[in-house]
Amino acid sequence: MRYIPLLSLISSTLAAHNTIELPKPTRELEWKDVNFLSTSDVHGWLLGHQHATWPEPNYSGDFGSLASFATHMRRIASDKGVDLLLVDAGDHHDGSGLVSSSADASSKAEDIFSMLPYDIITIGNHELYHYEDALEEYRNRGRWNGRYVTSNVNITIKAEDGTFQSVPLGERFLKFETEQGRKVTAFGVIFDFKAHARGISIQGTSKLIKEAWFLDAIKDKPDYFVLAGHMPARGETGEFLPMFDAIRQVHPKVPIYVFGGHTHVRDCVQYDDRSIAVVPGRYLETVAFTSSSLPSTDENAPLDVSRRYIDGNPVSYKWHTKTSDDDFELPIGQNISLALLRLSAALNISTPLGIAPHDYFLNRHPYGHPRSILTAFSDKVLPYTIQDKERNGTRVIIGNAGSLRFDLFQGRFDRNDELTVSPFTSAFLYVRLAAGLARNITEQMNRSGASKFIPSQPTTKLEEEDRVRRIFDDYMAEQWEDYLIQGGNDHLYDQESNQMVLEHGKIPKKPRTMGFVTKDRCPGKGDDIEHYPVPFVGNQPDFIETPFPDVDDEEIIDVVSMDFALDDFLAAVNVLDPTIGLKEKHMKPYAEGLEINVVFGMYAKEMWQKGL
Ligand SMILES: [Zn+2]
Ligand SMILES: [Zn+2]
Repeated sequence: MRYIPLLSLISSTLAAHNTIELPKPTRELEWKDVNFLSTSDVHGWLLGHQHATWPEPNYSGDFGSLASFATHMRRIASDKGVDLLLVDAGDHHDGSGLVSSSADASSKAEDIFSMLPYDIITIGNHELYHYEDALEEYRNRGRWNGRYVTSNVNITIKAEDGTFQSVPLGERFLKFETEQGRKVTAFGVIFDFKAHARGISIQGTSKLIKEAWFLDAIKDKPDYFVLAGHMPARGETGEFLPMFDAIRQVHPKVPIYVFGGHTHVRDCVQYDDRSIAVVPGRYLETVAFTSSSLPSTDENAPLDVSRRYIDGNPVSYKWHTKTSDDDFELPIGQNISLALLRLSAALNISTPLGIAPHDYFLNRHPYGHPRSILTAFSDKVLPYTIQDKERNGTRVIIGNAGSLRFDLFQGRFDRNDELTVSPFTSAFLYVRLAAGLARNITEQMNRSGASKFIPSQPTTKLEEEDRVRRIFDDYMAEQWEDYLIQGGNDHLYDQESNQMVLEHGKIPKKPRTMGFVTKDRCPGKGDDIEHYPVPFVGNQPDFIETPFPDVDDEEIIDVVSMDFALDDFLAAVNVLDPTIGLKEKHMKPYAEGLEINVVFGMYAKEMWQKGL
């Protein structure tokens, strides 16, 4: 009996996607001797992106459709007599409701992830913030069939004899032969970050290359090396080069293929003409296809390499595998899709809580605009939901804009959407202050700016998150700025009229859909589909406040802060009036028991019931 609602859910999900016409690719993939599909930073987005607002439909493929695609690609590779390897660079935890809605959700999601056999897979920082998460990965590393490789990560475990031992979390390195009989030596690494849990140790790659086991592992000459790493191919936290150089010292000519992640952007760079390093982006939005010739008789000739960022949707998957609605879906994909829907039903994350009347964007409008999610947060959601029954005094609530992580889209709004938009737990605290002082706190907090406190070497999860966000925002901002400089039409970013244009079939001339416009360092075009970029308005405030009560400056009011931003709050108050000496101990709980990650759902249940 359970199948009926699940299957009807599948068909309703597909129906929603089918109403949107996605553009088809126009260029065949460049298959060569060695080919890769790579993913990274999936962060639980295994159900794909389910909303109709652009650019979400570009990423509407779930992990089941990716599995069907990858399996067709393996068949094509086999028919052509070439290699196809599947690589993932970590960060499976933290993100959508599938991994964030309960303590054991991510473990179940990992089991489903591993239903698609990867050739090389490594760990991300989000698997290493909590010891229990890392231990779960360690204990269940068998689900990856010996392909979970963590060359520079150890975990301390209690051995059978009761002693504590530091052991490699996954495999130290991989040596295997492909179906075509080619020898591969592979490593999996993560950037050297400090915010991991106790019981985890990470060795910087510049130290790793001095280890006897590493020197031994690279001694024999394979047909090619693969470095999978939870780090970008270049820039901040990019730490592949020591390993690359160490291999080059022994094997000046052997191809090295590098697959990165962590910064959530699409990127590509070549360290030399016998290598390519590709980063595929995030959230199952992109599957990167990378290909390379192998060295010919002329040992010195550069390799012929290419990369393509494929938007993660069935239209692209079918086009590139020359399959149709009739033969695209394979049992592996169907099983994965069904397992995902079952998990999502068990976690109760897909029951609609309301119907959002509009899109609310993080970065497409300035704060103050009615379609900015920050405006909705400060002017509607917080005032409505954060009520302390014990207190009926006048109050202002100061919220942290950084607690909001994603756009909120028009239409169905469920727990999954809620966790996507606002994943963090943060309670509320208040202090009684004069309104005249309170009036200036948010402004003072913004003047100091949360982002300006980010140290060069983050030591907390939040600081690390902010670093990734800054890099990703820069990537998005650059695309939009370039578009405007080139005379791009800024009216296209009016989301509502744009959707109307599409509905009426009056599709703007090429490129006609919004999406990533990637500029990387590799030759030729990387994006599989040509898009115009997503609008980006920079300089958003770090802190926002609810509409200020209409009171005299002398009146004493409740000033409420999120505990998330407490340090910034205390600092701002003490700068504005050094005589107060406000400390954490002076703050009292407000609306006790309420956390920030449930307020959008509360609001939806009351205010967005129309159409449900
Ligand atoms: Zn990530
Ligand atoms: Zn990461």
